Amino acid sequence: MSNHFETKAIHNQLNKTENKENSSPLYLTSSFVFDDAEEMRATFAEEKEGFIYSRFSNPNSFEFIQKMCALEGTEDGMATASGMAAVFASFMALMKSGDHLLCCASVFGSTHNIISKYLPKYGIEHSYFDVNKPETWESFFKPNTKMVYIETPTNPGVDIIDLEFLGKLCKKHNVIFNVDNCFATPYLQQPLKYGADIIIHSATKYIDGQGRVLGGCALGKKELIKEIYLFIRNTGASLSPFNAWVLSKSLETLAVRMDRHCDNAFVLAKALEKNEEIEFIKYPFLESHPQHAVAKKQMSKGGGIVTFELKGGPDSNRDERGRKFLDALQLCTLTANLGDTKTIATHPASTTHSRLSEEERLEVGITPGLIRISAGLEHHEDIVNDVVGAIEKSR
Ligand SMILES: *Cc1c(COP(=O)(O)O)cnc(C)c1O
Repeated sequence: MSNHFETKAIHNQLNKTENKENSSPLYLTSSFVFDDAEEMRATFAEEKEGFIYSRFSNPNSFEFIQKMCALEGTEDGMATASGMAAVFASFMALMKSGDHLLCCASVFGSTHNIISKYLPKYGIEHSYFDVNKPETWESFFKPNTKMVYIETPTNPGVDIIDLEFLGKLCKKHNVIFNVDNCFATPYLQQPLKYGADIIIHSATKYIDGQGRVLGGCALGKKELIKEIYLFIRNTGASLSPFNAWVLSKSLETLAVRMDRHCDNAFVLAKALEKNEEIEFIKYPFLESHPQHAVAKKQMSKGGGIVTFELKGGPDSNRDERGRKFLDALQLCTLTANLGDTKTIATHPASTTHSRLSEEERLEVGITPGLIRISAGLEHHEDIVNDVVGAIEKSR
């Protein structure tokens, strides 16, 4: 098969049935039958390949994972019901009581909750490191550090972590390097090249890309994925065949969609950079981004997310202005998702991160007027006009 991303995303497909379909059928079945007792025994014993029960094996999940492995360059993978199921499975399957997890301070809210609230109940400790101080990272490694977990670009701050630098530290200290590649997708960035052992995706975002289904996966080395597979097989947070079928079809258009998401986000970022009502703007491929050089090194484009801080209103209340801005939008939708065809605007301080104290928010870079835009696939002029217009109206 061709080694080009687009072609691999389209032509990695299940073998055709006798009906010779051009597009993979949906295997909406809970289980699979065996010709005789011996075939059933051998399949259960893993002496013979075959699908058994859709909690852990189904042709649609298989096709989705085969494709994801081809795109990320990984040996193996496991499909999960959501991105969070993949995150949680990677923690539970690969760590035990007494281990230490090292994580970047700005991570997805639910990931932060698992690490701070649930892992300690099982005796797994953690530390958070500051994304913007790479010179301090090595000092956080301990003798019992088992895993390093990061996102890059981070959510919602779009900070960039140097994968090559951190990958080398992980190798030196012999710890599992676990990378959530949700924001970049394998089209823009392949963490495997920098030594990632596990790659996590929330397929709900750009991989579906059309705001329809939840899904996720963990990809990586065979021996590590085996543990994650067994955890999901036994605990049940598996991907449904229908969602797997949707997600595998979606991968066929990932490249063209990501190109447009990135182009639209870049146009928006450049327009906002000139806007006088903006305190700061962050987009990885703008030269003003603090880790611009690292972004250029490890990503082929800047991604679809732009964040900016609005200047305060008349009483310099930036939080208030952030909410006024959202109310003034007409095209962009106000919703919790990202990576959709529709441009989405969120104000993290009053929504996704409202449960943190203001101090905790500032620690992870969530300032009161911070706005996150997930650039959709509409015409770029309409996106820019809506966002710039709402900034005007929120004054
Ligand atoms: C959304 C998201 C997740 C969680 O994925 P779900 O599919 O919603 O469970 C994890 N990591 C990142 C970076 C995300 O944006």
